Amino acid sequence: MLLAVLLVLLLGACQPAPAQPAPASLAIMNGALWDGSQLIADGVVILRGNRIEAAGPAGTTPIPADARIVDAGGGTILPGLIDGHVHNAAEPEIRRKFLEAGVTSVCDTGAGAVQLRQYQNPQEGLPAARAYFAGPFLSAPGGYPADTDDSARLGVGTPEEARQAVQQLAAGGADFIKVALDDGRSDEPLPVLSTEVLQAVTDEAHRLGLTVRAHVLDVRYLDAALDAGVDAIEHIPAPELSRQVFELWMQRDLPLPLPRAYLDELQRLAGRQIPLTPTIEVLERRTCNAVARSEKERTACVRVYIEALRQYRLLGGLIALGSDYGSAGMAAGLPWREMEFMQQAGWSNAQILTAATSNAARACGQAGEIGSLQPGYLADLIIVDGNPLEDLTALQRVLTVVLNGQIVIGD
Ligand SMILES: [Zn+2]
Repeated sequence: MLLAVLLVLLLGACQPAPAQPAPASLAIMNGALWDGSQLIADGVVILRGNRIEAAGPAGTTPIPADARIVDAGGGTILPGLIDGHVHNAAEPEIRRKFLEAGVTSVCDTGAGAVQLRQYQNPQEGLPAARAYFAGPFLSAPGGYPADTDDSARLGVGTPEEARQAVQQLAAGGADFIKVALDDGRSDEPLPVLSTEVLQAVTDEAHRLGLTVRAHVLDVRYLDAALDAGVDAIEHIPAPELSRQVFELWMQRDLPLPLPRAYLDELQRLAGRQIPLTPTIEVLERRTCNAVARSEKERTACVRVYIEALRQYRLLGGLIALGSDYGSAGMAAGLPWREMEFMQQAGWSNAQILTAATSNAARACGQAGEIGSLQPGYLADLIIVDGNPLEDLTALQRVLTVVLNGQIVIGD
């Protein structure tokens, strides 16, 4: 008995000071709800502070007595969208444009010193999309990207240098690690990370709880990335097509078969069930514009990428949404053209929404934090006019944006 009393007293002594009153809640009602995996015709989302407290059918989800009611106006409530692959988005004014388009998070997959400092020391002020960042690319000394300022690339030549670089980036607040596996595709190939250095990067990153994303434009480097255990692939790698085959692509409206060896590689990638961020828009703007000698050739080049993305879908692969904003002159906002390419490759609206939410979150190392409306996730959501599962253009009609539990647009 005495022991029990003592225990109660001790436990009492260990309790923290009286808790602050729980932050007031917000109840979003009168709309369809896509919580990240299923559509509920009449749904409710309860937010408390900056987290999701509950999400479910209107009839069975209790509304807290202190809740402020937000009317979704018959629209669809869904997680805030994520552009999982951008550059040069440190300035709040740029991320504001993403936010206005319903993109509540962007992930920078390679930044130089100036941008990195801005990400590390964000300025408070105008509400803007969240930013997650990698910092500089890890690459072989003198490697890709060659056409950028040196601070955007950290050359690592040995496993020890690789481990130190990952530790340095983690200490600087990196949310994930980006590696480049690219020889520049020119007559004088750039050096590329060796197998053992790449392995040291992934081992050290995983030890520190960070994901590794690999830039792979050429299918020849895909095996190296998968062997090292990277967590996401950036850009759909192109098949090697001879000039004669490419000429055939220009003459035919139907897609031609892609090389067997290439499809085997895609199959291996699909089997891993890691997110691939295709970024076909930037491949169109950069790679296709560089190889094509006419508009017809450019169109054929884009069709090759779309066919590759179609085959990858048939093989059961996963995709994430990313625009590569900041690298080829595209506008900040909803990566609509990229979504259209996904549609052309036969991905369903539900798959594209998953790519733009939970799969992009995974690619950015933020699974469990953003990209879903399950309890415990950050309270980032949007309300759109219409049902994007039936008509994806509903995403272009954003009525309300909630960021971190606050209505920042459409109140
Ligand atoms: Zn990029």
